[in-house]
Amino acid sequence: MPSSAEADRRAKPQAAEPKVPAAEAPRCESCGTGRLALDNVRTALWSGERLVVVEDVPALVCTHCGEQFYEDETAMRLDMLRGGGFPTGSAAREMVVPVFKFSTPRNSEG
Ligand SMILES: [Zn+2]
Repeated sequence: MPSSAEADRRAKPQAAEPKVPAAEAPRCESCGTGRLALDNVRTALWSGERLVVVEDVPALVCTHCGEQFYEDETAMRLDMLRGGGFPTGSAAREMVVPVFKFSTPRNSEG
């Protein structure tokens, strides 16, 4: 019966599963081994032809594989920043980044 199954699915989260206690960090979904710890990270993203860096982004970082997970609200905020076009005037600072070619032709000297 579809209707009763749906009702069951809706009732479950509030009835059975308690929230994860603060002491127990959530397990990493990527590697399944590490635990996620809240940390501030920086992320680089493309805005058209510009590469911009956003610092102090709150993320859950896996202690084992380093995978980063954003809360929905954080992801939304990043989207909003991207939507704002990252005006140069509001940048905290600028940094120079080295650019590499994936495949570099080998030099014969050396
Ligand atoms: Zn992991």
